Amino acid sequence: MSRFVVQRHRARRLHYDLRLEMGGVLASWAVPKGPTLDPGARLLAVHVDDHGLAELELEGVVGTGDKIVWDRGTWTPAKTDDPLRAVAEGELHFDLAGEKLAGRFVLVRRDPKNWLLVHKNDGHAVRGWDPESFPRSVLSGRTNEEVAAGIIGG
Ligand code: MN
Repeated sequence: MSRFVVQRHRARRLHYDLRLEMGGVLASWAVPKGPTLDPGARLLAVHVDDHGLAELELEGVVGTGDKIVWDRGTWTPAKTDDPLRAVAEGELHFDLAGEKLAGRFVLVRRDPKNWLLVHKNDGHAVRGWDPESFPRSVLSGRTNEEVAAGIIGG
C-alpha cells in the first residue's frame, strides 16, 4: 500500500495533479477536468514529470498559481505487483482509498504524453460526480481562493 495525493492547482489553466507514490517518487498526471467517480467519464490525463514526496502535503501559493491538497490517501496496484512496469507498458489499474476518491481506476496511454483516466463501474462509482462540487482541501479545509488570500488553515 502506497500513498497518493491529488492537488487542485490553479496555474495558467486549472487542473488537478494526480500523484501516485511508486519507486520512491510520485508518478504524476495532470488532469484538466479533475478525477471523478463517474464511470461514464473518459478524462485526459497528461503524464508529467515525477515529483518528490514533499508534494504529498504541499499546498500554498506556487509561482503565479496556487494549489491545495484536494484529496489524499492510499492506493494499491491491481492486476500487477509491478506498477512501474505497468506505467512503462502504458496501462495501470489501481484502487484508491482517499477521502473523496475511492474504487478502481484505470490509466491507459494513448500516446507518449496523453493518457486516459477512467473510473470503473464498481461499488464506489457515482454517475455525474463532479470534482468541482467538493472544492476544499482535505488537509486544511481551505479552498484555492482562501490559500491565495493567505488565510491560514487549521
Ligand atoms: Mn500542476
